[in-house]
Amino acid sequence: MAPLEQSHAAGPTDVPLLEETIGANLERTVASFPDREALVACHQRLRYTYAELDAAVDEVARGLIAVGLERGDRLGIWSPNCAEWVLVQYATAKLGVILVNVNPAYQTSELSFALRQSGCRALVAAPEFKGSDFVAMVEEVAPSAPDLERTIFLGSDGWDELLAGAADVDAGRLREASDALECTDPINIQYTSGTTGAPKGATLSHRNILNNGSFVGRGCRYTEADRVCIPVPFYHCFGMVMGNLGCTTHGACMVIPGAAFEPGAVLDAVETERCTSLYGVPTMFIAELGHAGFDERDLSSLRTGIMAGAPCPVHVMREVIARMNMSEVTICYGMTETSPVSTQTSPDDDIERRVSTVGRVHPHVQIKVVDDDGATVPCGRTGELCTRGYSVMTGYWDDPERTAEAIDADGWMHTGDLATIDELGYAKIVGRSKDMVIRGGENVYPREVEEFLYGHPAIADVQVIGVPDERLGEELMAWVVVRTGSALDDEGLREYCRGRIARYKVPRYVKFVDGFPMTVTGKVQKYKMREQAIQELDLAPAVAETA
Ligand code: AMP
Repeated sequence: MAPLEQSHAAGPTDVPLLEETIGANLERTVASFPDREALVACHQRLRYTYAELDAAVDEVARGLIAVGLERGDRLGIWSPNCAEWVLVQYATAKLGVILVNVNPAYQTSELSFALRQSGCRALVAAPEFKGSDFVAMVEEVAPSAPDLERTIFLGSDGWDELLAGAADVDAGRLREASDALECTDPINIQYTSGTTGAPKGATLSHRNILNNGSFVGRGCRYTEADRVCIPVPFYHCFGMVMGNLGCTTHGACMVIPGAAFEPGAVLDAVETERCTSLYGVPTMFIAELGHAGFDERDLSSLRTGIMAGAPCPVHVMREVIARMNMSEVTICYGMTETSPVSTQTSPDDDIERRVSTVGRVHPHVQIKVVDDDGATVPCGRTGELCTRGYSVMTGYWDDPERTAEAIDADGWMHTGDLATIDELGYAKIVGRSKDMVIRGGENVYPREVEEFLYGHPAIADVQVIGVPDERLGEELMAWVVVRTGSALDDEGLREYCRGRIARYKVPRYVKFVDGFPMTVTGKVQKYKMREQAIQELDLAPAVAETA
């Protein structure tokens, strides 16, 4: 590739896009590898070969036909990770029913919003999760979800009835329904995570997510011999697209270590299932590396994996490569609205780029970096990252206004992320347009300060936010998790900064914590940190909010 001058890169197009439905693609994989393992749910002691998976998917799909669901109807799923989640994902895809992913951390008002906004006719739900009684909560919200006719609780008579109903529907009806589908049909609605503002239902087609999963899997060089440990939640693209579709497009095996993330269970799954690949947001890898007994684990089966979803600290990447045997680990960058992945590092990239960039643009995708006027900036200059191509969502469900705000007339999705692209096309995420702190007229990117502070040997994790300040508009605050067995105080942190980074970048406030407020997908909720800090420091709220 000729060196770029402008920050606009287009991915290769030598491998054609898949122009088939998710169901058709699964059936091709089943035909190629019927006897290979497809799915292992460690916590449920369930295992399926591809042939068994396909039969189980078809049974659920026929059960859904018996319930009366048809192409275009919405079915919600509100459950932590389990084998049934996967069955429902592929069953709805074969039937053309739009799966609505509902975050298991949601409580009643959020559940009610998702069911109502997407018009779900049915819901598959876990009976409970982390002390929340889902049965009681569904009962409470049902009157506010007028389209909801039926809820099927997993592990209950309701699920058995669904399967029993399949007996009355012959395979021909499912085949007919599958054959009628178009790969451009919407098949999935994902409410984007609550890092900022109210949820919006990103609506994705077979073509969007099947191709993205497939290219992510190629990026990890998956074959039918791979076994992928997926501790990230299925309700998010990271689990159900990069995880599940990443596997089934290549005949690899999906390994679910547990219902929700638990570092010990992840390490157990990798060891006992001989996983070759491990996924996680950065904080998951930090927890695994810091887990008691980590050094006794046999992680020799690992080869690759994906770190994504949030800025990936360079030192964590280096540790994952060195201590977890993940020599080919890749970083992915993307967002739900783009299926999700837009860029990915490659095992062929030089080590520096593999740990400090989010890689290059994916096949059949374009990325560019623009200034405030929308003009593409020269390489190396910071601006907002935009993505265009097959991966851009069909829109926000029933919300043309917010869709038009996000995707411009030329089809570019405006990500709200600040990035640079170098001459060779490598992108770096340097912050979010809403996550910039303006201190006395100086712009500070929290990401940069975090990356610097990560270099302190006593710091295990750190997040930097802007808090309001009467004199300067905003001040910086660092929330710091100190490494077990180390000690650090305010003065020590400032001393570390002194003379090494510009004074205006040195946090004025430091708070030592055990963790951060997070979404289920591991995204730090900086707005919550800010709210808490304003209260604790007794500051007057700023006029203009930053994320
Ligand atoms: P979501 O829609 O929940 O997947 O969130 C997408 C957002 O997560 C992006 O807009 C980024 O701000 C952030 N993100 C995802 N991957 C990365 C990454 N590798 N590095 C930095 N930020 C990331």
